[in-house]
Amino acid sequence: MQRYFVEPHRLSEQSVTIVGDDVHHIVNVMRSSIGDEILVADGQGRVARVRLASFEGKQVHAEVVEFIRENSELPVRVTIGQGLPKGEKMEWILQKGTELGAFAFFPFSSERTIVRLDAKKEAKKLERWRKIVKEAAEQSHRAVLPEILPPVSFKQAAAAADSYTQCVVAYEKEGSRTLHDVLESLTEGDSLLVLVGPEGGFSAEEIALAESAGIRPVTLGPRILRTETASQYVLAAVSYHFERIHS
Ligand code: SAH
Repeated sequence: MQRYFVEPHRLSEQSVTIVGDDVHHIVNVMRSSIGDEILVADGQGRVARVRLASFEGKQVHAEVVEFIRENSELPVRVTIGQGLPKGEKMEWILQKGTELGAFAFFPFSSERTIVRLDAKKEAKKLERWRKIVKEAAEQSHRAVLPEILPPVSFKQAAAAADSYTQCVVAYEKEGSRTLHDVLESLTEGDSLLVLVGPEGGFSAEEIALAESAGIRPVTLGPRILRTETASQYVLAAVSYHFERIHS
């Protein structure tokens, strides 16, 4: 069944109002009729099966048939702190990371970041990125719509570590601490921030800064992964570690 994300305030216990691009999708692309059912998610975990009741100009109204309990979210909320990569790699990271269950994305620029975003470019990028994440979340049947935080500096990203149960920095020169060790220390409901460097990686100074903020370096195995692969490895590992029960 087709799924659409709506802003939380638009979904009440009884009904939902859909606005924006989704109206065009429901009416013209899916050619839906009154009485058809769709799924609506508020992006914060509530999902309802709803029946289309009326089309009014730029709005679609639907009545809630039932709220659905879904189990499509990772048991540990994983935020990907991503050193801004070049070109369209970020879009790929957001799309695939959403499919693999990322809770949020936290882009940052660091010493070896090549792209520079001015305020105007940044706003445009964020808008495009949020659209990519929304579509990926709908397609992959997520109940949570991953948030994309506005880009910050590496220092600011490291300073946010305290808001998470655990924060690690993926570092290819780390010899002993593994992701497995970190995941073993987490339980359902915890949150994890993983910092991944841009193409050129992190400098030794940045790793030292992270460590002084209580962020521990972890290895993601004996091979050097491209920046866009590292986050996907982490998300797949979290799924493998925590999602062993399948109905
Ligand atoms: N410039 C480095 C690698 C950078 S890879 C080099 O060429 O040697 C980009 C980012 O992916 C790194 O900053 C790190 O966060 C992550 N990464 C890649 N492979 C990794 C590994 N084996 N272990 C931990 N992190 C890794």
